[in-house]
Amino acid sequence: MSHLIATLALKYEDDVVAARQRARQVTRLLEFDERDQTRIGTAVSEVARQVLQSAKGGDVQFLLEGETSPQVLQVCIAERAAAPGKRATNRSKTPEPNHARELDRTDAVVAAHRLMDQCRVEWQEGRRSVRLTRILPRRAPVFSPAQLKTLSEQLHDQPPQSPWDEVKQQNQELLRALEELRLRQEELVRVNQELEDTNRGVVALYAELDEKAEHLRRADDMKSRFLSNTSHEFRTPLNSILGISRLLLDRTDGDLTEEQDKQVHYIRKSAEELLETVNDLLDLAKIEAGKIDIIPSEFEVATLFSALRGMLKPLLVSNAVSLVFSDASGLPTLYTDERKVSQILRNFISNALKFTERGTVEVSAASTPDGQAVEFTVTDTGIGITEEDQAIIFEEFTQVDHPLQRRVKGTGLGLPLCRHLAMLLGGSVRVSSRVAQGSIFTATIPIRYAGTEEAGGSVEELPVDSERVPLLIVEDEPETRLLYAKYLRGTPFQPVAAGSIRQAREMLRRQRPAAIVLDVVLPNENSWAWLAELKADERTSGIPIIVATNVEDERKGLALGADAYCMKPLDRTGLLKQLKEVTGHRMPGTPEERPLVLVIDDQEAARYVLRRLLKSGGYGIIEAANGADGLRVAAERQPDLIMLDLAMPGMSGYEVLQRLKGDPRTDWIPVAIVTSQAMSEDQQRLVRDAQVVITKDQLSLGRLMPVMSALGIAKKV
Ligand code: ADP
Repeated sequence: MSHLIATLALKYEDDVVAARQRARQVTRLLEFDERDQTRIGTAVSEVARQVLQSAKGGDVQFLLEGETSPQVLQVCIAERAAAPGKRATNRSKTPEPNHARELDRTDAVVAAHRLMDQCRVEWQEGRRSVRLTRILPRRAPVFSPAQLKTLSEQLHDQPPQSPWDEVKQQNQELLRALEELRLRQEELVRVNQELEDTNRGVVALYAELDEKAEHLRRADDMKSRFLSNTSHEFRTPLNSILGISRLLLDRTDGDLTEEQDKQVHYIRKSAEELLETVNDLLDLAKIEAGKIDIIPSEFEVATLFSALRGMLKPLLVSNAVSLVFSDASGLPTLYTDERKVSQILRNFISNALKFTERGTVEVSAASTPDGQAVEFTVTDTGIGITEEDQAIIFEEFTQVDHPLQRRVKGTGLGLPLCRHLAMLLGGSVRVSSRVAQGSIFTATIPIRYAGTEEAGGSVEELPVDSERVPLLIVEDEPETRLLYAKYLRGTPFQPVAAGSIRQAREMLRRQRPAAIVLDVVLPNENSWAWLAELKADERTSGIPIIVATNVEDERKGLALGADAYCMKPLDRTGLLKQLKEVTGHRMPGTPEERPLVLVIDDQEAARYVLRRLLKSGGYGIIEAANGADGLRVAAERQPDLIMLDLAMPGMSGYEVLQRLKGDPRTDWIPVAIVTSQAMSEDQQRLVRDAQVVITKDQLSLGRLMPVMSALGIAKKV
């Protein structure tokens, strides 16, 4: 129900002022605050002015809508009705939304939209009107019809103000508005200040957070460094123990009694176990420092299982437990790091055997449903692990308290290592177990290791060696490529292999080799044409090409521009001779009758082990206890091989290596780095000039001989 509170006719300019006054009076009575009185007054007078202008007259109605709180004030400002004739025409046309819309777009109505809760332009009975709506303030009472009647009577009695009063009134309103604006401005400045302070605080907090993160990173770094340093410290003496006990067991210095043999075996076994723990520690440190290399290769699960069976047999000490490998045939071939998968399974199986007193330990493998991975499971019938402990056993140094635990050895490093290794391969590990029933450890390993490009897919990226010149070998057989790479050890050439002409082209775009060794019967390729092309292109015509082939057509090869033509198989001397001829590079000297090895190592015990080994292998040996001596002796005696320790006081092995390779008297001598631990990538980079790296725990004649022959230093007994 709407109640009319007041009306007003718009005929003259003065009426606009009156409308404003009326609006203010009405709103004051309805208990709007001063600010709203001004707002509504302004909206009403602006629209009234517009209506008066466009229709030359009209009227204003003030109405109150609603009987419950909050009631709503409506001000309806309508244009005056058009003359009867015009109205008829208007009505004959369809309603005039456009006409209404025009009004809606006037400045006055746009302003009213902002000042009121609602502002609608309507079209009624051939005339336009603007309906302004404003909800009464919350504190206003609900006005009954009787009250409204009184109210409108009061209004009626209020005399209209003179324009003079209105100006005064408006000035006051303006002043109030300005004052309000000033207060707002002050408030804004204050809030801004506060915001600035907060921002500064946030920035400071971030800086602190960064600092904390940096601390954490450093602590992590230090932990890794500490682990790797300590494990290194442990390894050196352990390796001496292993080396010397091996000499004793090999009876190098005469026979042992049965008892002595047993004792030395114990010594060796303890040293081996300790070394394994140290290796685990180092592996973890390396993984955390991101310094572990994944070496993927193709292998079958069945082969892996049979190797594991052999390795783990010695752990089966009781007849009450059997170790069963399930059938692994029919599984896809894996392309990933076999050693790491083996390491994970070995850990799982040796744990299962440790914590199972009777029953079976079963090792099995199955493809995942999507066929992308293989799930290896090791199931035991052992003591089991509570759910609570299952959550923590993959943390470092965690062991579950159990009577059996006290009897078995362990460090709590195996499972964390498994988890890290599986993650490195793109997989995961998990456990499920019931106490007193057994456990199932699962490692999910992707079939294809995604971290590196498939071997042979592109040009082999050998470490770029600034001291050696690249030699492009275009050869599709990997074995032959490997053979050439071996031949080239100790020479000024760094082999870069390409398995196809496409790869060779790619490589040529990147670097200019000293020469090209080209197999002309690469499958599906016209290598003859490529040979001709290379020799015709002035950018490549200067690169010597040695054709190495099974095809007897030397004349053709030479006619197409080949610089040398050799029949396969090519031996080392043959290849080096050709290379020397076509490139003019100096080649290393040929080995003496009795190959001479220089051992540079500060540790007496280490030199002793090598001396014994090499002597029994028929090598001549000279020793140097420090880097400076080693360099001098190397230049004087020109040995066939230098075995170099890295960690030496004074001049380090790295420096010795650098100087050896920087001196024309010694730069051709192959160097074998003999270290007590597997090296980080950084370290490997530092010793990339060395031909081979041997770890001390692997030192035995059996290990050394293939290395020697690969280096072309055949044993002469
Ligand atoms: P370690 O075996 O060297 O102590 P691990 O990290 O390999 O360290 O294992 C951590 C702990 O998890 C073990 O000490 C043992 O308490 C628990 N555990 C591992 N495998 C099994 C298993 N198959 N059955 C019961 N407990 C196990």
